[in-house]
Amino acid sequence: MELIVHSLEHFGEVCVLRLRTPDSFPVHQVGHYAVLQFANFAERPYSIANAPNGKFLEFHIKNSGHAGGSTFATHNLEIGDTVIFHRFGGNYTLVPNCPRPLILVAGGTGLSPMLAITEASLQNNPDRAIFLYYGARHHQDLYYDRHLREKMVLFPRFSYIPTLSEENKAGIEFGSVGDIALQHPELLKSRLYVAGPVDMLRTTIDKALAAGVSPDVIHSDYRELDRTK
Ligand SMILES: Cc1cc2nc3c(=O)[nH]c(=O)nc-3n(C[C@H](O)[C@H](O)[C@H](O)COP(=O)(O)OP(=O)(O)OC[C@H]3O[C@@H](n4cnc5c(N)ncnc54)[C@H](O)[C@@H]3O)c2cc1C
Repeated sequence: MELIVHSLEHFGEVCVLRLRTPDSFPVHQVGHYAVLQFANFAERPYSIANAPNGKFLEFHIKNSGHAGGSTFATHNLEIGDTVIFHRFGGNYTLVPNCPRPLILVAGGTGLSPMLAITEASLQNNPDRAIFLYYGARHHQDLYYDRHLREKMVLFPRFSYIPTLSEENKAGIEFGSVGDIALQHPELLKSRLYVAGPVDMLRTTIDKALAAGVSPDVIHSDYRELDRTK
């Protein structure tokens, strides 16, 4: 199905893209990805960054630095262009009525599904605490920093904790995002969602299990991504 580009916002190497959805469009599940095709490039999965709203799907697409669809989307796509939507996919979703706090751990474009989970949780369960850990290498890679700091002001139950792994910066935690998130004092009472590069998923999940987190409350696309290695 063809979808029309509704808006584009550029944040350095990342483009926030919204595709308008017609009334008949299927409803996605929070945490899932869509398989998209830009121009004649190969179709690729992209995590959906918003909760269903009947109007648009949001994606955060990073210039991969190679001559593929993601680079095309970040450099050449324009409002009004068409993008081919193939299907939704993914194996984890938000648990809507769970009272446990959410610890969301994201690296790179793994931020997208966490934004969708945050939005849906704030809509459906506004009293539930959310702790979003976002890991980048360098300060300039925290492309959504201002937006997330503004969200903290609007929603007191939402906390955003940026982390940097290759640069020391005052006021920002230094180290691996997974290691930092797993130090959360309420880790064993929370639900843990992890998204990002496959190595980050593997080590974070292994360490969470070793720390005593039940596999029932750990959510990620790890198995699916691991098969694609
Ligand atoms: C579940 C899931 C969710 C995802 N969500 C997002 C998301 O939200 N946002 C996002 O930006 N991405 C996301 N991705 C990654 C995305 O699907 C693409 O794989 C990625 O953006 C690169 O695709 P591309 O089409 O630009 O490049 P490709 O078509 O994969 O590559 C383009 C060309 O570059 C070559 N190439 C690729 N890598 C290298 C390399 N390392 N060295 C040399 N040449 C190389 C290829 O052989 C090819 O010729 C997700 C992936 C998965 C599995």
